[in-house]
Amino acid sequence: MWSDGLAPLMVLSGPSGAGKTTILTGLIQRTGWPIRQSVSATTRPPRAGEVPGVHYHFLDRAAFEAEVQAGGFLEHAVVHGHLYGTLVRTVEDNSRDGRATVLAIDVQGFRKVRGRRPVDSSVFVSVPLPELEKRLRLRGMDSEEAIARRLANARGELAASGEYDEILENRELEAAIEKLAMIWERFFHMEA
Ligand code: 5GP
Repeated sequence: MWSDGLAPLMVLSGPSGAGKTTILTGLIQRTGWPIRQSVSATTRPPRAGEVPGVHYHFLDRAAFEAEVQAGGFLEHAVVHGHLYGTLVRTVEDNSRDGRATVLAIDVQGFRKVRGRRPVDSSVFVSVPLPELEKRLRLRGMDSEEAIARRLANARGELAASGEYDEILENRELEAAIEKLAMIWERFFHMEA
């Protein structure tokens, strides 16, 4: 199905609130391409409406650390004061199903993954900071303290955007989906 027989691995980074998941969901709906966003593990408590196993695997610290000891993570990092990590088995299960895997992870996670595995495409989703602040507030899911922490982190992440293959400005959702489709098109011209 894939040119070299291996399903591609993509990384999508960018500050939380930049729209990574929204763009990706829109792309999958529009194109029908066999892409799956990897479900990460985290010690962050679930937000209202988040479903275990769908949005994240929610683990307590002891369970997360046991998984680290067992070598279960492709990468893990502390983000906004909580542990987040990509499970090796999630990526492997995806590839076995013949799907491209997208890791929506932070800059630290990207650096770790690319040191361990070839990353076929890395895209940094960026958004101007005032716009980001507005979105985080509109989302209404975070405390003032959490918003301040996310904004401080965003500044640091923006500084690393040059490490990615592509920078995708998310000013308008439809245009961002279109741009990502153009960036990834070459992976999805498959023979049945
Ligand atoms: P949120 O708490 O808003 O769901 O996610 C916060 C940030 O954590 C995301 O913007 C993303 O960059 C990062 N993140 C989510 N999952 C992972 C993961 O598995 N590994 C790493 N390194 N970062 C992650």
